Amino acid sequence: MSPEVGMEIGKFVFFELLNSNRSAKWRIGNNINECQLCGKCQSVCPSDAISVSRHNRTWTLNNRRCDKCLQCVLKCSARCLTQVSR
Ligand code: SF4
Ligand code: SF4
Repeated sequence: MSPEVGMEIGKFVFFELLNSNRSAKWRIGNNINECQLCGKCQSVCPSDAISVSRHNRTWTLNNRRCDKCLQCVLKCSARCLTQVSR
């Protein structure tokens, strides 16, 4: 197989995986009792999908904005973010 064909197959597999993740039947859930409202998930989210207010003691997710990259889950040191069924 030529390197060009290998690259094309690699790109195809990558975008198929990305699209299947985006249409998956899950969303990000927060075990709010464990959440420290530190805001790290908000700052790492590339889609501006998370809003954290220490003042109001709220954590909210705009699920329509979320592209399911899981960066917030990886960043959360309290480990209170998980994938939950929609
Ligand atoms: S990173 Fe975790 S602990 Fe911090 S605000 Fe987000 S969900 Fe809460
Ligand atoms: S999964 Fe990605 S896009 Fe969705 S809320 Fe977390 S960081 Fe933002």
